[in-house]
Amino acid sequence: MSLPFDFEVRRALAARIRYYNEMGIYDFYRRPSNAAQQLIDETRVDQKLTAPPYILDSGEEMSPRKSAASAMPVVEENLLEAIALQPEQSVSDPVKALKIIREDLGDCTRCPLHKQGRKQIVFGVGDAKAELMFVGEGPGADEDEQGEPFVGRSGQLLTNMIKAMGIAREDVYIANIVKCRPPGNRQPEREECATCSPFLMRQIAAVKPKVIVALGATAAKTLLAMNASMIQLRGRFYDFKPPGIRSIDPEWDGCKLAVTYHPAFLLRDPRQKGEAWKDLQMVMKELGLKGPKANA
Ligand code: URA
Repeated sequence: MSLPFDFEVRRALAARIRYYNEMGIYDFYRRPSNAAQQLIDETRVDQKLTAPPYILDSGEEMSPRKSAASAMPVVEENLLEAIALQPEQSVSDPVKALKIIREDLGDCTRCPLHKQGRKQIVFGVGDAKAELMFVGEGPGADEDEQGEPFVGRSGQLLTNMIKAMGIAREDVYIANIVKCRPPGNRQPEREECATCSPFLMRQIAAVKPKVIVALGATAAKTLLAMNASMIQLRGRFYDFKPPGIRSIDPEWDGCKLAVTYHPAFLLRDPRQKGEAWKDLQMVMKELGLKGPKANA
C-alpha cells in the first residue's frame, strides 16, 4: 500500500514544521482517529520512512536515542516527531552540534535586525563543553566588527570577572540573546528576542552547561520568561531547561541559572561591582571554583 502522505505533502509538512521549529516550537500533538490508526497499522508492517536528510549527516555519529529510533521501522505516527527534531539531534558531540546550529542559522534574515546595519552575525564563542555559560543582550559595535561576543569595553570587564573566578575566558561559552547588532546599541525588541532566542536555546542544549549566568535584564527576562526587576531576579538560582528544545544528550536535565548585572551597567555604576561579585561567588560555590589564588 502507498504511504498515507505522498512525497510533496510530506515535504510541505517538513517545511511547515521547520518553520515552527525556528520559532522554538518542537512539540506537536495529533488527535487520535480511527481512520488514521488503521492507516498507521497497515503501514507499520512493511514501510520504513527515511528520516529527512538533515537528521542524518553523512559519516556522523548518531546519538544512542537516535540510532535506537532508526533501527525500528519508522511509521507515519513518528513522522511529525522525526521531522520536528532539531537537526543537531543526529550528533552527540557539542562541537558538531554547534556547527549544525550555525549552519541552520545561515545568513539569517528572520528579523528586522538583518537589514538595520549589522556587519555580521555574532553566533557565540568558547568551549563547546563548558560548565559555565554567560548570556548577554546583543552585539555592540566591536562585536559586530569582530564577529565575537563581548570583545569591547564590556567584554574586557567580563573577561576580568571570569578571571577573578579562577578560570579563563576560553573555559566558558559566551553568547547573546540576539545575534545581530541592534542599531545605535538600542535594546533588542521583544519580537527580535523571540525570533533569535530559539537558536540560543539550542546552543545551550548543545553545550549543556551546569550554570548559566544571565548578564542584565534582557538576558534574564528572555531566558526566564519573567518580567521582574534586577533586584527581584538576582541573588538566587533558577532551574533552567531550554523550553521546547531537546538536548543532544538525553541525560542532560537542564542546569542552574543565576542573574547578575550586565558589565556595561557595571562600567556606568562601578559601585555595583561588589553586588555582581556576590552573584559570581554564588556561581563559584556551585561549580566548586576557588578563585585564582587557589589555582596559583
Ligand atoms: N553587550 C552584550 O550584551 N553583548 C555583547 O556581546 C557585547 C556587549
